[in-house]
Amino acid sequence: MSECQCFAKISKEDTRYELWLKIYSENKLPLRHPHITISEGGPWEGDQFYIGDPSKLTMEQRKMLVEMMSKKFHISPIEVEYDLVEYGIPIKIDNVIITRCKKHSKSDN
Ligand SMILES: [Zn+2]
Repeated sequence: MSECQCFAKISKEDTRYELWLKIYSENKLPLRHPHITISEGGPWEGDQFYIGDPSKLTMEQRKMLVEMMSKKFHISPIEVEYDLVEYGIPIKIDNVIITRCKKHSKSDN
């Protein structure tokens, strides 16, 4: 089986667009399966998120992402790293378009 190539892109109108361009080359964020999760508890309870795959980022991209999330959520870089490995990269689905690879083009998730 070939490697998953699904990815997410964000709309230029979204406030996160500039940030995405900085971190993810060509505004493409590789996704992890299943793509969608629903937040249980916390401030985003019940909200839907796509899940990005941190293992597909370069070291440089990962470093930028960790720094950005650490600042944004006021948690230490070590905790951010742990959460990335455990849960993947949470992406609020607003203004985000996903493109499925051949392997996943027929699945709903
Ligand atoms: Zn895929």
